[in-house]
Amino acid sequence: MKTQKPESIAAQALGWVDETTKEIVGQIHTSTTYIRDADNQYRNGRVYGRDHNPTFEQAEAVLNALEGGHQTLLFASGMAAATAVFQALNPGDHVIAPKVMYWALRNWLKTFAARWGLVIEFVDATDLAAVRAAIQPGKTKLIWVETPANPMWSVTDIAATCEIAHAVGALVAVDSTVATPVLTQPIALGADIVMHAATKYLNGHSDVVAGTLTCTRDSETWQRIRSIRAQIGGIAGPFEAWLLTRGMRTLFPRVKTACVSAQQIAEYFSVHALVEEVLYPGLRGFVGHDVAAAQMRGGFGGMLSIRVKKGEAAAIGVAARTELWKRATSLGGVESLIEHRASVEGEGTPAPKDLLRLSVGIEDPQDLIDDFEQALVAASR
Ligand code: PLP
Repeated sequence: MKTQKPESIAAQALGWVDETTKEIVGQIHTSTTYIRDADNQYRNGRVYGRDHNPTFEQAEAVLNALEGGHQTLLFASGMAAATAVFQALNPGDHVIAPKVMYWALRNWLKTFAARWGLVIEFVDATDLAAVRAAIQPGKTKLIWVETPANPMWSVTDIAATCEIAHAVGALVAVDSTVATPVLTQPIALGADIVMHAATKYLNGHSDVVAGTLTCTRDSETWQRIRSIRAQIGGIAGPFEAWLLTRGMRTLFPRVKTACVSAQQIAEYFSVHALVEEVLYPGLRGFVGHDVAAAQMRGGFGGMLSIRVKKGEAAAIGVAARTELWKRATSLGGVESLIEHRASVEGEGTPAPKDLLRLSVGIEDPQDLIDDFEQALVAASR
């Protein structure tokens, strides 16, 4: 068969068909253990449920194909996946991480990872000179990238960062949750590991917590990550894995719709009298727009932030008054969400107090604009 486009791979979950039953939708496999052969071997390759389950293998295979990876592993959450990468390093290793990144992971790096002996340096990852200056040859083992990054949507040049890291033998891991494989291919840009909070766009329906890691090639680090998952047991359940495969079937139309709507919403509010600033990589005036335009394909994502001119109380007031935008944390679902990000992140957040984070779903974009506008006008009185 002709090589398939990613849209086709996702829609048919790799075209999987059960050879016995002829089903085109996979089963939810609940067995936690597998029969050993009479001669004491495990020829089918599966031993025990903490490491092996056919239901999560299917989700892993679909995502692996979309990312163009060597292997993909499913985890219990995005945090379980991300922290496995850092746990695969050695105490004393130097790590470069962005100042703007998913706040819970930043907190984990500052607390647990630091106590565990990793030396974490937070830099402005949009400034390549700052990244280069932070490198400690021989000591720097990992550069962590998130692009576009929560909640300012800062854009990092993945290819240029990889060049800097690889020159000193360091790895680059990319949290590509917001970009999704629809818009960015970190592996094609040189990244060594791609991470997703599959809780977000990959699943897309706000009903699964899961995470993934995809590697470019096998390596000692990857084998350590495999062991960490098997030993610590941060695995997804079979039902979550099944839902994730189902969710990924509609990944492309969901993400493409969200991108078009987010662009429309960003453009509308970027010239609004009651708005201080709109942060969205798709806006021409946005710092990082050019890098995003070169690195992202077919859109700039469904995430944006709006800074309300009248300040913090008005921003919280907008979130209190929207009806279609649901006031809840998380992102990447079919329903649009709004949240006052500084309240969530607390001390150390890069989010200004007047900032609302918006996750654009697949509702009608004009309905979303109208709903935000009525809330903005009412809250700014
Ligand atoms: N990375 C990003 C960019 C996220 O937005 C999140 C969750 O919000 C995570 C990682 C963590 O994922 P999870 O909540 O599945 O642990």
